[in-house]
Amino acid sequence: MYTLKRICYQLIIPVVLILLSLMIVWEWPQIQAQFKSTRELNAFLIFLPIIPYVVFSISTLMGWRYNNMGLVMGSCVLALSYYMTLHFSPGQRSNTYYEAYIFLFPVNIAMCTLLIKRHIFTYAAFLSIFLITFQVVVVLLLCGKVDFSSSAIVSKFDRLIPFASIRLDDLSITFKSFLKMEHLVIFKQIPTPAIASFLLFLSYLSVRFLNNRDILLAGYIGSLAAVFLSAAANRPEPASGVFHLSAGLILILTNVEASFFMAYNDELTGLPGRRSLNDNMMNLGKKYAIAMMDIDHFKKFNDTYGHKTGDDVLKVVAARLKEISGRAKVFRYGGEEFTAVFQGKTVQESLPHLENFRKSLENSPFVIRLRSRKGSTPVKRGRGPAARQKQARITISIGVAEPGRHHPTPEKVIKAADKALYKAKKTGRNRVCS
Ligand code: GH3
Ligand code: MG
Ligand code: MG
Repeated sequence: MYTLKRICYQLIIPVVLILLSLMIVWEWPQIQAQFKSTRELNAFLIFLPIIPYVVFSISTLMGWRYNNMGLVMGSCVLALSYYMTLHFSPGQRSNTYYEAYIFLFPVNIAMCTLLIKRHIFTYAAFLSIFLITFQVVVVLLLCGKVDFSSSAIVSKFDRLIPFASIRLDDLSITFKSFLKMEHLVIFKQIPTPAIASFLLFLSYLSVRFLNNRDILLAGYIGSLAAVFLSAAANRPEPASGVFHLSAGLILILTNVEASFFMAYNDELTGLPGRRSLNDNMMNLGKKYAIAMMDIDHFKKFNDTYGHKTGDDVLKVVAARLKEISGRAKVFRYGGEEFTAVFQGKTVQESLPHLENFRKSLENSPFVIRLRSRKGSTPVKRGRGPAARQKQARITISIGVAEPGRHHPTPEKVIKAADKALYKAKKTGRNRVCS
């Protein structure tokens, strides 16, 4: 459930921008008429085609500033795509430059996804620049000599494999008449090899996205889909600009969102981090309780099972903490310490929820998979499947406090909760103190 929610959340930016672009392309005649009837807006129409370039420049600069080669290359690939779409009309099927480029575009976007979070001056980055330059040179040299058009390639396939002659063109005619979208989208204009390349890389990126649910990957998938729609739309004039603009904005916004997420959330556990807690503390109101939690003897746990297993435990504790009752907001305070904020509740009201959580953690031991690779864990390895699993009990100590005469501000309440936590540790651990 949480995974599905996360997948939908990560896809919001691309989906909204693509739908918006589709609406603009659909309504273009009316929008254009509106623009033309107003003098100021009419002048604006002249600048319309250069707006995507402005956006690509901004995203390139952003990529440079973030030291993110994936974003720099993504922007360049989109700029190249826009240039090709503007200057080599998609309507001309004989245009081999365009057909070669549209075939290679998904490959380039997939290459950019391999550069996500890579720095600019790295070996991989230079290799990608080389590969794209190489592509451009090869296409320039080959075009005119080799026929990249779908009919030529499909007829070659026809001779090799009989069932390869699935006519995507025919299929698209049925599809578009079914959707009654004749005037908006026609797949006819995209060569069959390009459709195959789009579908192949779209599937590849989607599988990767479903595995890691990275918003940056969702951004590249969105850009790929937007460029595909730009090439497929039957109204090249607004479609190429609008969809490329949308592709550029998708890259920018997903990167901004990823940075925002990184700043406010803890990477290991996925919980909101210290900065989120600080923001939250500014908006608490008068009645609230703050609980500070600290895993017991965690250092010993790390020493016994290894740091990696310790990280796994932190993830599991965080996942359980997300489900704590009482509508508490939970944060990773740092290390093996967590904070739960009960807004609108007193210490007395929050105690049962904390007690329930403490007990549930105590009563559900962790199954630890001992790593079988040599030297990866200090635990002695036995033989057989039984030796590879072990159960460990994890307990947590909790200190909770609410605003009072001696500690009126949230910062001071946290200090008071820390004191209560210290008391819980001193009096035997695995307990809640206030
Ligand atoms: P106590 O019951 O008194 O809290 O004992 P403790 O060992 O849990 O307390 P201490 O503060 O001495 O040790 C905290 C340990 O938590 C030290 C560090 O190795 C471990 N730790 C902190 N952050 C992480 C992390 O992100 N991953 C892992 N695996 N361990 C961490
Ligand atoms: Mg600690
Ligand atoms: Mg501890």
